[in-house]
Amino acid sequence: MNIILLGAPGAGKGTQAHAIEKNWRIAPLATGDLLRRITSSETGAEENPLSIELREIMATGALIPDALMIGILEEEIALSKYANGFSLDGFPRTEAQASALEGMLLKNGLRIDAVVLLTIDEKALQARIEGRLFCPSCGASFHSSLNPPKREETCDMCDTRLERRKDDNAETLRKRLEVFHGQTEPILPFYEKQNLLIKIDGMRSIDEVAEDIQQSLLKLDTRS
Ligand code: AMP
Repeated sequence: MNIILLGAPGAGKGTQAHAIEKNWRIAPLATGDLLRRITSSETGAEENPLSIELREIMATGALIPDALMIGILEEEIALSKYANGFSLDGFPRTEAQASALEGMLLKNGLRIDAVVLLTIDEKALQARIEGRLFCPSCGASFHSSLNPPKREETCDMCDTRLERRKDDNAETLRKRLEVFHGQTEPILPFYEKQNLLIKIDGMRSIDEVAEDIQQSLLKLDTRS
């Protein structure tokens, strides 16, 4: 099964992608994590002109050019860890990306089975974003108060030291919300028309949201 997770930054897409992985054995594919991995100083890529350019764009909250993104994504989904499916988080972000994705998946004999939209009260976003921690190695996400790791600043899954994202600040959040409303929300009718869109209230606890998604996906699974 291949899923797209949609929602404003901080809506909980990454957290839910990991819950979906446990239930369905489909790997999370977050384009932001993928880009952070590619540009991470740990991989020794910091001198590479491409990663310098990517990092600069990401720091402002603007979008990486489509052709570059779709190429990176196509290479990634060919990996064996996605043989059972993927949950896409952070892609597509624009109508152009949605139709490029459809074409690329078709070319690879794949399709999207469901699009999960996590809705959220934007007044709560600032607090969610401020405490956010991520694992640069496995992509797991935590929150200093809402979902703390068992050991301080350390990933529960792989023991890597957790990091804060450079773009988790008020100014970049404002820009990213602008991009979400202006460019990502207009994608919704595209998926609604295909009867793929599932709307989930993302303001409840992590477990309640996960259960709601699980029930919706189970219904879908029995339908197909
Ligand atoms: P995210 O972790 O999904 O919030 O992504 C962080 C940053 O990575 C974004 O603000 C963009 O600069 C870049 N990025 C992630 N996904 C995409 C995408 N689908 N298209 C273009 N840029 C992206």
